[in-house]
Amino acid sequence: MPEQKDQKHGLVIIHTGDGKGKTTAALGIAVRAAGYKMKVLILQFVKGSWKYGEMNGVKMLAPYVEMKQLGKGFVGIIDDKLPFEEHVKKAEEALAEAKEWILKNEHRIIILDEINVALGLRLLKVEQVLNLIKSKPPQMHLVLTGRNAPPELIEAADLVTEMKEIKHPYRKGILAQRGIDF
Ligand code: ATP
Ligand code: MG
Repeated sequence: MPEQKDQKHGLVIIHTGDGKGKTTAALGIAVRAAGYKMKVLILQFVKGSWKYGEMNGVKMLAPYVEMKQLGKGFVGIIDDKLPFEEHVKKAEEALAEAKEWILKNEHRIIILDEINVALGLRLLKVEQVLNLIKSKPPQMHLVLTGRNAPPELIEAADLVTEMKEIKHPYRKGILAQRGIDF
């Protein structure tokens, strides 16, 4: 085991991969931290990606855990009629808002849920997210979720977990289950 460094080391954590559990694991971090009365902020990058289960569940962890949707979000990117530039603008607004929260330094942990999706859709540039990470106060943990985390982000992170799909009931035609998927 390497020599123990400072105990309060703010980590950059990534949950990526195409298997289920990226957001679930981030919520697990929030539950665990709430047990220490740590303040956790969960920021939603893609509108509509949260389900009633977590929205209401997190309210029971108030005032330690809080969930917010950033800006207006960007939704239905594939099927809505907004021009691409409008989505970029919204994604950049969301990023700026996330940065404000990070710089305020009121939370011990900030979760940027589905931020990788915005990168994957090229609504944000990886440099912008790298800058966001660099602006993090030293003791703050930052969690970034979403499929296809780019290699530059993985390089910049301290802890990276790839969820790998072994089996998913969806393949058998079993629909999303309450309490598990939403
Ligand atoms: P969860 O929120 O359940 O932890 P996730 O964050 O890993 O999932 P997302 O890419 O955010 O995955 O997808 C969100 C939705 O898609 C969830 O309802 C989840 O159950 C479903 N999902 C995730 N992975 C798969 C998969 N491999 N096949 C089918 N559906 C999936
Ligand atoms: Mg997710």
